[in-house]
Amino acid sequence: GKVNGRNSKLFYTPKMNKMYNSLLLLEGEVNRALNKNEFVLHYQPKINVITGDIIGFEALIRWFHKEKGYIPPSEFIPLAEETGLIIQLGEWVITEACRQHVRWVEKGLKPFNIAVNVSAIELQRSDFAEKVKTIVYETGMNPEYLEIEITENSVMQNTEDCIRTMNQLRLMGISLSIDDFGTGYSSLGYLRKFPINHLKIDQSFIKNSLIESSNAEIIKAMIQIAHTFGLKVVAEGVEEPHILKFIEEQSCDYYQGYYFSKPVPPDEIEALIVSDSEI
Ligand code: C2E
Ligand code: CA
Ligand code: CA
Ligand code: CA
Repeated sequence: GKVNGRNSKLFYTPKMNKMYNSLLLLEGEVNRALNKNEFVLHYQPKINVITGDIIGFEALIRWFHKEKGYIPPSEFIPLAEETGLIIQLGEWVITEACRQHVRWVEKGLKPFNIAVNVSAIELQRSDFAEKVKTIVYETGMNPEYLEIEITENSVMQNTEDCIRTMNQLRLMGISLSIDDFGTGYSSLGYLRKFPINHLKIDQSFIKNSLIESSNAEIIKAMIQIAHTFGLKVVAEGVEEPHILKFIEEQSCDYYQGYYFSKPVPPDEIEALIVSDSEI
């Protein structure tokens, strides 16, 4: 690691030492949490803008630490990436989402898409598609219902390798989304290179879409161009009815956000699905 080698003196300031220690501590904690089942997945519905129907769910990891309480993914995912533990954690996420889907299908619930978030580090492993294939096979998940969300920036590194992996996943029937679109370095023209199905517009644009007119224009352009490429567009972070109305006017296909539901535990999803199909 970074503490060895020529720069070790530079690195080993007390502050850095503290950071490094907390990294080591966290590494042990994540490992322990994996073994003790402290991680769970919550699910947030994705909604069809026109019909208001649920079309699927995004799985989001939750860590309820037995002493520290809830630790948000924004705190431990970057550290898990740094230590390499994201590989194990990511495998657990995909496996758990597939198992949950199988449990829902076995209960007789109508099958929905389940999306999982995959970090750049996972995607860039040459055996990633093979690993997913094994998980799908071992859990009995129908891959046609599995979706993988990849951030815009992660496909911008080692693009050729990413495209190869993405093609392998598509061949298995898995669908692909570009997450947090608009925050990274890619351009809309670049999207054509990628074998993707959905584009998720980052919530920072959506939230301020009616305050800053430039955001509204950007959203309009994103949706139009995505549609000319045959992609479906998801708006993230829809919290208010007037934002929903605005994205509907822009022909946005799907949305997620607190306006419909926060991410919730699996049993609450079951209640949502049942009440949705009774209407
Ligand atoms: P993301 O993939 O962009 O997920 C959307 C985040 O926005 C989630 O935060 C979600 O709870 C939140 N959100 C959804 N609707 C609204 C809304 O209307 N308003 C507001 N303010 N927030 C909303 P969360 O669950 O804390 O996750 C944060 C990030 O952590 C995710 O961003 C994703 O990058 C990462 N993450 C979460 N779970 C996983 C995982 O299993 N694997 C990996 N690699 N990353 C994950
Ligand atoms: Ca996501
Ligand atoms: Ca996102
Ligand atoms: Ca994000």
